[in-house]
Order: sequence, then C-alpha cells, then structure tokens
Amino acid sequence: MDMGIKGKTALVCASSKGLGRGCAEALAGEGVNLIINARSNGPLEEAAKYIRDTYAVHVTAFAADITEEEGRAKVLAAAGDVDILVTNAGGPPPGSWRDWNRNDFITALDANMLSPIALIQSVLPSMIEGGWGRIVNITSMSVKAPVPGLGLSNSARSGLTGFVAGTAREVAHTGVTINNLQPGFHKTDRSLALDTAAANAENSKLEEIMKRRFQTIPAGRYGTISEFGSLCAFLCSVHAGFIIGQNILLDGGAVNSTM
Ligand code: NAP
Repeated sequence: MDMGIKGKTALVCASSKGLGRGCAEALAGEGVNLIINARSNGPLEEAAKYIRDTYAVHVTAFAADITEEEGRAKVLAAAGDVDILVTNAGGPPPGSWRDWNRNDFITALDANMLSPIALIQSVLPSMIEGGWGRIVNITSMSVKAPVPGLGLSNSARSGLTGFVAGTAREVAHTGVTINNLQPGFHKTDRSLALDTAAANAENSKLEEIMKRRFQTIPAGRYGTISEFGSLCAFLCSVHAGFIIGQNILLDGGAVNSTM
C-alpha cells in the first residue's frame, strides 16, 4: 500500500536505536525525509548514514537531550516546519513506590509527559496552518495495564495520554491527527536493560527472566522495531486521517483484556 507521504518531512525524537529507530526507518521506507535525534552523537551519525544509504532520503541528525528545554529548542530549530512528529525519549528507571521522591517524579514527568507536550505545542501551529499533520507519541502498554516496578512510567505516560485525548479532538478538524502507540515488550536495549536488572535483583540468569517474560506474552516473543515502525508509518499516512486520539497497543496480546 502506498502511504502517500513521500517527500514529507518528519522529526523523529530519540531515534538512533530502538522503537524510535524503527519509526524513523519505516518512514524513510515511505520516502519521508527525516530529522533524527539522540544524545550520543556516534550512534546517531551511524543511524543517519545507514538510513540515507538504505532509503535514499534526506536525513539530518541532531544530537541533544530532548527532555531538556535547550535541547528541544535546538532540535526544533534544526528541523524547521515538519509534517510529521514522532515523540519519544528514554523511559524512567524501575523501582518501588517506597523509594520515589518528588524529584524522581519531576524527572519522569519532564521526560515522558512534559517534553512530548512541549514538542506537540511547538509543531501544531504550522501543521494547522498547512492543513495537514501527523503526530505519534511512543508511550507504553503501562497506560492500559500498570507494569510492576515501572510506577514512574505508569504515572507520567497517563498524564500525556490525558493531554492527547483532549487536544487530538480539538485539532482534528484541521487535518492534524494525534495518536499514541503503546509498546509492550520489544527487543531493544531498554528491554534488555530491564531484563538484566530483574535478573540481577533475583540472582537469576537473563535467559530465565526472558523465558518467563515470553510466557506472559501470548505471541511468545518480543516485538520487533520493524513491526512497531510499520504501524507508526501507517498512522502517519494519508489513510489514517480518521484515527483521532487513539491508544494503540502493540504487545503480542500481553494485556489481557477484551477491549
Ligand atoms: P532504547 O532501545 O533504549 O532506545 C532509546 C533511544 O532514545 C536511543 O536512540 C537513545 O539514544 C535515545 N534517547 C534516550 N533518551 C533520550 C533523550 N533524553 N533525548 C534524546 N534521545 C534519547 O529504548 P526503546 O526500547 O526504544 O524505548 C523507547 C521508549 O519506549 C522508552 O520511553 C521506553 O520506556 C518505551 N517503552 C519501551 C518498551 C520496550 O519493550 N522496548 C516497552 C514499553 C515502553 P541516546 O542514549 O544516545 O540518547
């Protein structure tokens, strides 16, 4: 299916690796020019070169911390007006409700709620003026079903979800859509780090933790960044203009619910 977005421009945040990278590559595969971002310059430049060489699109790489106001301002200035925005950042660390203090919550809210909101606020005016835009936020299945130990993530992402629910409906008549993609477990550095932390905490082998995790996923495996990116590209396509303010799970069936 032709997604109808060839020649458009997308800012994909936190995208040298993992789910953001999957989205960047899927959009590049549809002929979308990219601004990609991460904090470390080396892997970011490598990703930019790979995407340019593989998909023959224009790729600008901008290293900055997207959760900091200064970093965001620089990335947005480098990007200029964009047709597509994918928000993303690293997730909060695991822990226990006993230990988190106000600063831990502020850091998580900044990264996974207030940063994507600020990015959305920055790009919306030009998208609305142009009469077309697509915004996809990478959130988490933790919004639908809390993930044990990830209370900071569960909290911050719910706040973003509330903002999107209202704002998406407010701007829908302008041709701009805003939706959230909710990853379950995907094979990325982040899931490896969480599994390793779990293995260390209970003195188990990493393989044992992963085996147990797979048993909680009806698909019996982790998702891939390519599967994730493909759905992102569809949400950014001309065919997805009637999908407004939705939260779409990609979790291999892990959240056990009827709707
Ligand atoms: P990942 O494999 O660790 O990749 C994270 C990417 O984001 C890297 O390119 C990283 O590069 C960049 N990044 C991290 N923090 C950044 C920041 N502050 N500013 C700019 N770039 C930043 O992570 P992932 O698994 O793709 O996860 C992406 C998001 O989805 C996270 O919020 C995670 O919590 C959430 N999620 C993931 C899963 C999963 O199973 N993978 C499930 C549910 C939710 P640098 O380190 O160089 O900055």
